[in-house]
Amino acid sequence: MMNNEDHFLLFSTCIPVKGHESSLIMDLDKSEYLEIPNELYDILTSDHFTHNIKKIKSLFNNDYDEGINQYFQFLVDNHYGFYTSNPSPFQKLPLHFDSPHKIISSVVAINKESKYDLTNVFQQLDKLDCQLLQIRIYDHIEMGEVIEALKVLKKSSIRIIELYFPAFLKLSDEVLKKIIVDFPRILITVYGAQESKKNSVLKNSSRVIRYTDQQLLYDSKEVYSTDLFTVSHEMYLEAVNYNAGLHRKVCIDHEGNIKNYVSHNTIFGNVKDNLIAEIIQKEEFKEKYYLKNDIIEKCKDCQFRYMCLSNSDVEKKDENYHKIDTCTYNPYKNTWDQSNTI
Ligand code: SF4
Repeated sequence: MMNNEDHFLLFSTCIPVKGHESSLIMDLDKSEYLEIPNELYDILTSDHFTHNIKKIKSLFNNDYDEGINQYFQFLVDNHYGFYTSNPSPFQKLPLHFDSPHKIISSVVAINKESKYDLTNVFQQLDKLDCQLLQIRIYDHIEMGEVIEALKVLKKSSIRIIELYFPAFLKLSDEVLKKIIVDFPRILITVYGAQESKKNSVLKNSSRVIRYTDQQLLYDSKEVYSTDLFTVSHEMYLEAVNYNAGLHRKVCIDHEGNIKNYVSHNTIFGNVKDNLIAEIIQKEEFKEKYYLKNDIIEKCKDCQFRYMCLSNSDVEKKDENYHKIDTCTYNPYKNTWDQSNTI
């Protein structure tokens, strides 16, 4: 039961985030979020460590006493917060982000014109402790060469390898199944399929081949949707400190160009002439790491800014940063436009 002399605290992993028109509480443990009005955000971010509930109510001129009672009880009932008479042992979540991985994620694009050494690229990414590798295949390419190159990753520390094939390659279930069996960390997606579905190819295994009717083009734009937001400790801490989409990411396009992201225009080198490790040390390459949503126009007013993973390039105009490929969410009206594809 609530006592006005008590303090109300959110759990340290329940993070209130304010947007221009609406706010939310991210629950980093449960990977979910709760939308709340901005007025409640203001109440929740008053200093609850110093002020008890009685004081908090008085800060709002006792205009919202009943609403505050109901909101706090709702948050307690739904495990976002708790009452305590002694808040001093409780601490806010430290916001420091660190990762042992020099590269956290990478996209490597291949088409039939690609002339760079794929095996060597995979070896370089492995040495950089890359965690997530996405391989995009665009054309009728010689699959034997790709599979041969993948062998160097069998003993790598890369955690997840996503392999995107076009449906027109018409790889049989047998071939796909063999890839899955031979490479347990590979997740296969066949794009441009007739229908979106998941096919289980191995008995007694949760591993599936994903088919999607979406196309993957060289300049495919990102899809932004509330379904695709990521609520997690790692994502939050990275997004508070960095551009979560571009931080410690390196991409190789189908010509071997080294970029922050495959669809960006800026090229920092080519794997035929440069080592990836050297390029990612350059200050101009790392510049985008630090352009986090908190300093980008529109995103800084969006309550989804610590869960939205965007690979868009960022440009500076009139002393302000802007995403080149922005989404269709309007934080000033709290509405999504009809299409949520950028
Ligand atoms: S791109 Fe920016 S404005 Fe759009 S959803 Fe992500 S953080 Fe919000």
